[in-house]
This record gives sequence, structure tokens and C-alpha cells, in this order.
Amino acid sequence: MNIILLGPPGAGKGTQAQTLVAERGMVQLSTGDMLRAAVKAGTPIGLKAKAVMEAGELVSDEIVSGIIGEALDALAADTGVIFDGYPRTAPQAHSLDTLLADRGRQLDHVIELEVDEDALVDRITGRFTCASCGEGYHDRYKQPKVAGTCDKCGGTEFKRRPDDNEETVRTRMAEYRAKTAPILPIYEARGIVSRVDGMADIAVVSKAVAAILDA
Ligand code: AMP
Repeated sequence: MNIILLGPPGAGKGTQAQTLVAERGMVQLSTGDMLRAAVKAGTPIGLKAKAVMEAGELVSDEIVSGIIGEALDALAADTGVIFDGYPRTAPQAHSLDTLLADRGRQLDHVIELEVDEDALVDRITGRFTCASCGEGYHDRYKQPKVAGTCDKCGGTEFKRRPDDNEETVRTRMAEYRAKTAPILPIYEARGIVSRVDGMADIAVVSKAVAAILDA
């Protein structure tokens, strides 16, 4: 199964993807995570992407579609994929069609997490992740069970994204409205779009997502 999780920054795409990875053995392909890794490693792609990401703008379609193609090639053919943060523009949506078709894959579901944008700023500015395993947490909504220790791997170092500040978040949302939301009709025409209330509790959203995949 291949699915896209769609929604503005902070809608909960990464959180829901982590649940699907844990419960269904699917693989999460997050272009944001891959780009952050490239920035950290100082690769040529990372050097190009760094300033764009810090400004909350979009990295070029060629770069992100290239890294998605490489990531797909590294997977076994029967591994289910969750696309998280990709595609984000119409050209990326068309590239994904080609990338999947070339590998004998098809898109089964596009799940849109519907959210209230003002509440997202509150969500985003409180989030942090385990520096070792990437498990996501939040100052107000999901603290580790033991303060300072990751529930999943026991790590004790956490980090915050440099683009999770209010000004950059507003730019990222404007990019979503202008370039990403308009790709939904491409998938609506194929009858594969489902909508979930992304403002509900994490577990409630997970249940709704599971119901769509199991229908
Ligand atoms: P994310 O972690 O999905 O919020 O992505 C963080 C940042 O990485 C975005 O604000 C963009 O600068 C860049 N980025 C991630 N995915 C894409 C994509 N599919 N297309 C263009 N830029 C992207």
C-alpha cells in the first residue's frame, strides 16, 4: 500500500506516519527529514536546501523528487510507503505518478489532515524530537512519560527544528495554501482522497486513519 499524508505544517503527518510505521511495518518517506539529514551532513543537496528551509520556502521540485526516487529504489517492492511532506506542488505530484508507475507501484490513498491554522502555530512552536530515534514530543500535548527520557529508545537528548518559529511557520503555511492544497483535485478526480479531523486527539486521528486503510 502506498499513501500520501497531506496537510499543513503541524497537522500531525509525521506523528501519524510514526504510528503506521510501528503498527503496520510501513516505511515513512519524509522529504523534510531527508533534507534535514542532508543539511546536517553538509551534502551538496543540504548546502542548497539550508537557507530555503530556514526561510520556510520550498526546495526545488527536482531535488525533492530526486531524493524520493532514490529512497524508493532502496525499498523492497512489497514495502508499503507513507509519503509525508511530499508531494507539495503539482509538478511533484506528476513526478510521483511517474516514479511509482516506473516501479510497479500505485497510490492507494491520499489522507488530508484538516486543521485550524491558528492552532497549528501553538502545536508547532511546542514540538521537539528525540535526538537519537526521532520520536516526536510536545511541550503541552505529549511529554515523555519520564521527564527527560525518550519513551521509545531511552535517549536523553532532544532537539527542536530551527524552522519551528512563528514567522517561518506562517511562511510555510502560506506555501501550503498556495502550492500544496491545489494538488488535492488531482487526487480527488481519482476518488482516492479521504479527510480526517486533524484537530482531534492523536489516538483518535490514528483510529480514523486506520479505518480508511482497512476499509
Ligand atoms: P517538513 O519537515 O515537511 O515540514 O519540511 C521542512 C522544510 O523542508 C519545508 O519547509 C521545505 O523547505 C522543505 N521541504 C520538505 N519537503 C519538501 C517538498 N516536498 N518540496 C519542497 N520543499 C520541501
